[in-house]
Amino acid sequence: MSKKNVAVIPGDGIGPEVINAALKVIEKVAPGKFNFKSVAMGGNAIDKFGEPLPAESLKICQDSDATLLGAVGGPKWDNVPPEIRPERGLLGVRKGLEAFANIRPAKIFKPLASACPLRKDIAEKGIDFIIVRELTGGIYFGEHKLFNLNGERAASDLMQYTEHEIKRIAHVAFKMAMTRRKIVTSVDKANILTSSRLWRDIVIEVSKEYPEIKLNHLYVDNAAMQLIKDPSQFDVIVTENTFGDILSDEASQIAGSIGMIPSASLGDNNRGLYEPIHGSAPDIAGQDKANPIATILAGAMMLRYSFEMYDEANKIENAVDNVLNSGLRTPDIYVNSEGTKLITGSEMLNEIISRL
Ligand code: NAD
Repeated sequence: MSKKNVAVIPGDGIGPEVINAALKVIEKVAPGKFNFKSVAMGGNAIDKFGEPLPAESLKICQDSDATLLGAVGGPKWDNVPPEIRPERGLLGVRKGLEAFANIRPAKIFKPLASACPLRKDIAEKGIDFIIVRELTGGIYFGEHKLFNLNGERAASDLMQYTEHEIKRIAHVAFKMAMTRRKIVTSVDKANILTSSRLWRDIVIEVSKEYPEIKLNHLYVDNAAMQLIKDPSQFDVIVTENTFGDILSDEASQIAGSIGMIPSASLGDNNRGLYEPIHGSAPDIAGQDKANPIATILAGAMMLRYSFEMYDEANKIENAVDNVLNSGLRTPDIYVNSEGTKLITGSEMLNEIISRL
């Protein structure tokens, strides 16, 4: 196999620390298989180029076979004009890669079951679902306006979806469910929002092509409750951008720490963007406290979804399981109990590498 090109966006805060860990792990399981090209994006790009996503950075990502991202942002750039905030770079790269489907697994790692904030009997029923979030449409990409209304300040953000955008994300969800327990839960607010009523109609239309799948619908407020009440009922949840953003953060807490969960953003061509779900954690940056597992698992997702390197991806996931089973914990997942030991982020990396 010729070498594959991977654009790497270390980003800001703990981004470079966790990316460094993921690259070391990938190099260990698949030595010499990739050309990694580092790309400026986020706050560091604002400092250097005056914008969060220089055209050259986006071009490198678009020309690569996959993109691996740490995290961007931080207090230093909190007051820059909205159009050049680090998060704009993030939205730009997702849009530029036409990565319209965000895949977030929410799975409880058995050794971390005690870290689940839900009641023991609920956690023990098992938590293993995927949230498929629409990523390039909806309110985050609609028109944003600040204006004057009857002499006072007013603001509006437009929530808009097209048939084509809903159809393609529904297909991703149904296809994923076909490889799992064959249940899709579509989350909307169809009792109030017109965009949600269109969403529901189209999801139902697409479901006709997948007769083996059991399709449920939940309003987003009920979905937020059900995630706490009985997450074991879910297999694949599909929802629009904003609802997905909120529900997947909720799900991340159910499944343990934000430092454990990877995500993939896929387009039609399998050129995915892979990243941890956490941000740049400026409060712990440079202190060797960051848990690298989410980004390492994002690397495993990249191997699986973009490069079909299933054995290598499984090896990484098994090594992570193995380290957790041995009781080693970074601060974010540490609970002082018998058999657990507190370690740093770089020690966590070394422990994972030694088990590959
Ligand atoms: P955050 O995810 O950065 O941090 C939330 C909390 O989780 C913090 O206490 C942090 O220390 C902890 N945490 C996060 N990742 C961790 C890890 N790997 N190991 C251990 N602990 C971890 O969210 P925030 O504080 O809301 O945002 C900080 C900055 O990150 C902001 O500028 C925000 O805009 C940006 N952000 C970026 C992304 C991204 O790049 N995808 C996502 C979310 C937030």
